[in-house]
Amino acid sequence: MTARLAVYYSPLALRHDTGSGVFEAAASPLLCIAEPHPENAQRLENMVSILRKGPISDRLDWREAPPAELEALLRFHDAAYLESLRAIPAGESRRVTSTTVFGPGSWASISAAAGQAIAAVDHVWRGAGKLAYALVRPPGHHAQPTTADGYCFLNNIGVAIEAARARGLRRAAVIDWDVHHGNGTQEGFYADPDVFTVSFHMDHGAWGPAHLQTGAPEEAGRGAGRGANLNVALPFGSGDAAYHAAFDRLVAPALEAFGPELLVVAAGQDANQFDPNGRNCVTMAGFHGLAARSRALAERCCAGRMALVQEGGYAISYAALCLHATLEGALGEAMSLPDPLAYLPDPGDRVDALIDGIERRWRAALRAA
Ligand SMILES: [Zn+2]
Repeated sequence: MTARLAVYYSPLALRHDTGSGVFEAAASPLLCIAEPHPENAQRLENMVSILRKGPISDRLDWREAPPAELEALLRFHDAAYLESLRAIPAGESRRVTSTTVFGPGSWASISAAAGQAIAAVDHVWRGAGKLAYALVRPPGHHAQPTTADGYCFLNNIGVAIEAARARGLRRAAVIDWDVHHGNGTQEGFYADPDVFTVSFHMDHGAWGPAHLQTGAPEEAGRGAGRGANLNVALPFGSGDAAYHAAFDRLVAPALEAFGPELLVVAAGQDANQFDPNGRNCVTMAGFHGLAARSRALAERCCAGRMALVQEGGYAISYAALCLHATLEGALGEAMSLPDPLAYLPDPGDRVDALIDGIERRWRAALRAA
């Protein structure tokens, strides 16, 4: 039977207005043209467009789930933090961090994003289908239980996993290939032995007092959660070969040994070669390969149950093309759209030594525990 993919999407995603300025920062009086914040509605509109018009359009079942209820958010987030967001006066626009803008329409998008993620994970957990994808903004993987961070307010995946756990899920795995470290998801499950979090990212390190996680392989989990966090910190410029080798040599064996009941993919496209927010070089074929590997892994270890949740991806045209390639990989299809942009592949002879080094550091950290 041909696989189908449920797409959970709410047009409320477009209400979150992040404004304009110096890229992601506030406007400068020295400049005469303010540019749109990179996390804008247009990026999602292109993603909706390519899924509605592209070759896989007849494989998709579009759904809209209700916004998340407060009770669901409280399973991952701190009550005082949520209250601080809700206390922002209606009509006011505020930078919650230097780059994270909360405006008049934002709560509608934020709660809808968590609601779509909950529904996508629930879709595969209750067996309505093997594959689901939540097309959402704002993204979620930097949001920690007690704080917003990096354009993220609610950890959509964290909230969704907790909702499924309230309905009997015991063991889940997260594979995050957004180009930034999934520090919020890591933080939420860091001491939890039942949620294995993997993050592929460019090696950007900690970025401020509210974002102390470094994303290094030495961050391997705490207490009972030791060994259930794997950081694949890749040097700037890493491309398809490094991502695929790390998946095959480190991630797949670790998750097969862990034995999750479902797999959640934090599917950002900002590791693409043209992303204004990333310094890695993954192509459409690279994303297709990551998703195909994830699908095969899910088939091997959790009856094919896989939910994908949209994270970053800020090159307005190319991210949409990379998303289409991702979902073709998830559906078990060959990549059918040509990659319209050239790229420089990462040299294969350095990849093995790179992955050896990451594995050595992770295993040394686990031995030192
Ligand atoms: Zn990102």
